[in-house]
Formats: sequence, structure tokens, C-alpha cells
Amino acid sequence: MALGEFELIDRFFSRPVRRAALGIGDDCALLAPAPGMQLAISSDMLVDGRHFLSTVAPERLGHKALAVNLSDLAAMGAVPRFALLSLSLPAADEAWLEGFASGFFALADEHGVDLVGGDTTRGPLNICIQAMGAVPSGKALRRDGARAGDDIWVSGTLGDAAAAVASRQGLLSLPAEVARACQARLDRPTPRIALGQALIGCASAAIDISDGLVADLGHICERSSAAGIVDYSALPCSAGLRPLRHDAAVARAIATGGDDYELCFTAPSRCRGQLEALAARIALPLSRVGRMEEGSGVIVRDERGQPMAFGKAGFDHFG
Ligand code: ADP
Ligand code: MG
Repeated sequence: MALGEFELIDRFFSRPVRRAALGIGDDCALLAPAPGMQLAISSDMLVDGRHFLSTVAPERLGHKALAVNLSDLAAMGAVPRFALLSLSLPAADEAWLEGFASGFFALADEHGVDLVGGDTTRGPLNICIQAMGAVPSGKALRRDGARAGDDIWVSGTLGDAAAAVASRQGLLSLPAEVARACQARLDRPTPRIALGQALIGCASAAIDISDGLVADLGHICERSSAAGIVDYSALPCSAGLRPLRHDAAVARAIATGGDDYELCFTAPSRCRGQLEALAARIALPLSRVGRMEEGSGVIVRDERGQPMAFGKAGFDHFG
């Protein structure tokens, strides 16, 4: 017999909650942020054919759908706590649900996230997640706190995910093992949760890099009424891309490619030592890539100090 809606929720998504006062099964979930904490809430929708292809392994999709939401919490310095999952499914395909749920819950468990509710309906494949996290009141990392003179920092490496896309589109030729490593970063982004929390009290502004460094740093610049001056030679990239970093398509991927889910943040120069120690403590490289100045917009400079052009930066669904 076909799997019904409630049986589907029960079998694949109902699990005991650890932190919520009430989880799945009633009309609403009940949540209480701890005293002195604010709830940071964010939502991301993944649409078949737009953000992924239905041929992608469901386990990877479950991971990625939650990871991109947790990345938003990381960018605010929030501790992940709860999630809502709204699914539109063409069919109740048990193997697909099994895979999706295993990818989703593996990452949820890693970060202590309770799935507290959602919605399930038949329709084109569409995954919408709301993630909620706790952040000390008034201390969240926002986009509007950067000041002229602050350093600009980036975590991890940039460009792998976009290089994977460019390679699949035939716009970039990568050695097979480099292409595989890049594809893995596109499929399984790692939300920088520990970094985000550790940046509270130190970073003046932060954002996660989902649309590319130039576009996302651009949001910090706009909200902070300042300019971001970045040195291309300081931008971190993976060992696989390093020999190719002067190739135009690779440079574009590093500076403007989306889907890396690293954090870009600004901090006063007196925090340099603290940030270097933090990088060692959480075993995540942090690179100082430029400086905030008076003015507006983002400029990426080459070795000679000349502004580089990359064409249209970032991704705009209606642009
Ligand atoms: P209602 O009709 O009141 O909106 P539903 O019948 O849609 O409730 O859902 C029943 C319960 O299952 C609710 O607690 C809801 O939050 C939860 N739920 C529905 N779909 C999902 C899902 N995909 N993941 C997690 N919880 C879900
Ligand atoms: Mg409902």
C-alpha cells in the first residue's frame, strides 16, 4: 500500500526532541530560547532544476538543504537548535526519503538540531527549511558593523564549488582528482558553526559566502556604508586549484563563485593575534584578504594593485 502523509512523517521525520518543549505531532511546536538569548531564524528553499538536479543522491540533498541553512546561523554567530522541514514531493519514494532523512539527520545530530515540524505535500520536488539558533541577546554578528580600517577575513578556501560547476559546464578543464574534490565541496558544504560563535565579541560584521565573495562582501559594504578592498593574491584556495589560480575561469571562481559556504568577516586590526590563535584552535585556516575603507563597493586588486574585472558578480534569481 502506498505510504500516506502521516505515516511518511512518522517513519522518516518524527524523532524525539532534545531541546524543544514540544516537537512534531501537534499544530505547532513549542520552543523557548534560554534567558538572555535571542532566536536567530532563517529560511532557504531548494528547488529541483534550479538549485539541484533530481538525479543528485538524496543523502547529499538532505545534508546540503540543512547545511545551507545552518550556514546562515553560523554567519550570525548562533548555536543551531531547531529546524522546520517543508517538503513538496512528486511521490512518496521510500528509498529517496530514507536517503534524504539520513543525510539530514546526520548533520542535524552533529550540531544538536531538533527537527520540530514542517509540512509535507505532493508536488514538484521542493525543499524548504527554516533553521533556528540561539545567540546572546544583542551580540549577533550582523552585516552592518564593518568600519573603515577593519581587516577583511575569509575562512577555509574559496572557489572549489564554482570550479566544479564550471568544469561540468565545460568552461574549465580540471585534472580528474581536482574535479572530484571540487564536486565534493559543492555537494557537501560544511557550515562554519564553531567559527561563527567564536567570532562574537571580535568580528565587526560577518556573512556566509553563498553567492561569491565579491557579491557577499558587497552586502557587508552596502549595509556598513564602506568599501571592501581585497587582494586577489591573498584569497585562499585549495591545493588543487592553486596551480591554476591565474587562469581566468579559476580566478572568477575564487573571487565570485558561490556555494562555498565559508564565512567572510571584518575585524579591527587589534584582533589579528586572537584570530590567528582561533584558526589554530578550531583547525580552520583564516586568511586576512583585505581592508575596509571609506567609500562603497568591492574592489579585488591584482598583484600590481590594479582592479580586476570578473563580469557579473554573484547570482540573482531575477537578475
Ligand atoms: P497541520 O495540518 O496542522 O499543518 P500537518 O498534518 O501538516 O499539520 O503535520 C502534522 C505534524 O507533522 C506537524 O507537527 C508538522 O509540523 C509535522 N510535519 C509535517 N511535515 C513534516 C516534515 N516534512 N518534517 C517534519 N515535520 C513535519
Ligand atoms: Mg500542515
